[in-house]
Amino acid sequence: MIKVKVLMISFMLVFFAGCFPSSDLNKQEVLLQGRTMGTTYNIKVVIENNAIDTKQVHTGIDALLVQLNQEMSTYIVDSELSRFNTSTSLTPVAISVGLQRVIKEAIRLGQLSEGNLDITVGPLVNLWGFGPEYRPNTIPTAEDLLLARQQIGLSKLVLDGNKLSKKTASLYVDLSTIAKGYGVDLVAEYLEEKGIDNYLIEIGGEMRLKGFKHTGELWHVAIEKPIQDASGEHRSVYQVIIPKDNAVATSGDYRNYHQAKDGQRFSHIIDPATGKPINHKLVSVTVIHPSSMTADGLSTAMMVMGEVKAIDFAEKNGIAAYIIAKTEHGFVEQSTVKFMQYLK
Ligand code: ADP
Ligand code: MG
Repeated sequence: MIKVKVLMISFMLVFFAGCFPSSDLNKQEVLLQGRTMGTTYNIKVVIENNAIDTKQVHTGIDALLVQLNQEMSTYIVDSELSRFNTSTSLTPVAISVGLQRVIKEAIRLGQLSEGNLDITVGPLVNLWGFGPEYRPNTIPTAEDLLLARQQIGLSKLVLDGNKLSKKTASLYVDLSTIAKGYGVDLVAEYLEEKGIDNYLIEIGGEMRLKGFKHTGELWHVAIEKPIQDASGEHRSVYQVIIPKDNAVATSGDYRNYHQAKDGQRFSHIIDPATGKPINHKLVSVTVIHPSSMTADGLSTAMMVMGEVKAIDFAEKNGIAAYIIAKTEHGFVEQSTVKFMQYLK
């Protein structure tokens, strides 16, 4: 199997749109950039009369993100989560407030999505070569799959107040799917504490926005969507959305996959019901929600469901979602009722 890791190819990239001349000279847009969680972050803050020391804010953000990684990265061997994962003890342990918040929400979304989002799916993620452990160059055998599947399941993880425990020694918790979103929420809370109420935060494609640009306009976000032209080639057009004071998360299997010699792609998203990478016609799912962590988790959960179930699930639960699916007649997009208010 040839391994191809494609990150953020131009297939469907959410990016910042809208460029207007400044109308209020007292207001300034400052861009803070850096790296975290194996990706980049871009934060735009609007400052009035230079009232806030943005260098200090930038240092504060970096410190927050370093702490977040030290709590929940599975790539850091001595992170709080890695220590929980490698421990074979079934005794409940006290965990940090950050881990509590993320695990609590992950369990809630896991139940809401009937197990489609499952943070215990790590052994399967590793088996298919996407986790920090190893990158096998063969497709797992039925026996490997069976073994890995026996180790997973949210019912084997118990959060009771600030105490976390596992019911089986080999349980492995992987928060990759909502940690970026949580990071965005943390930064948003931090900015608001510092008196910054106009911002656009983006970490690895996950976004949260509030207020206005320095020009007084609302923040615009563009979703790049593929189309199939007569030659069968894919080009991109944009769907501009105005999410207002919300987060925007997109899940799509074009970003990160392995490709076998016969061209078959293996997504990094695993269907816990089959133990295998998802394989359906859903190209991407975009969710708008006040919390970036929730939007992040919901978009991945819906990606696992596939196009028909995902739309039903979103409508039933009042979720603002926008999906793109591949059909015989080209790409088809669909918005839930709640999403329509954000379309420009
Ligand atoms: P996307 O942006 O495409 O949603 P994310 O990075 O948010 O991707 O989440 C994918 C990661 O989550 C995978 O790399 C894997 O570590 C983990 N994962 C895969 N399948 C699931 C699942 N069904 N539930 C929870 N986490 C998953
Ligand atoms: Mg996600």
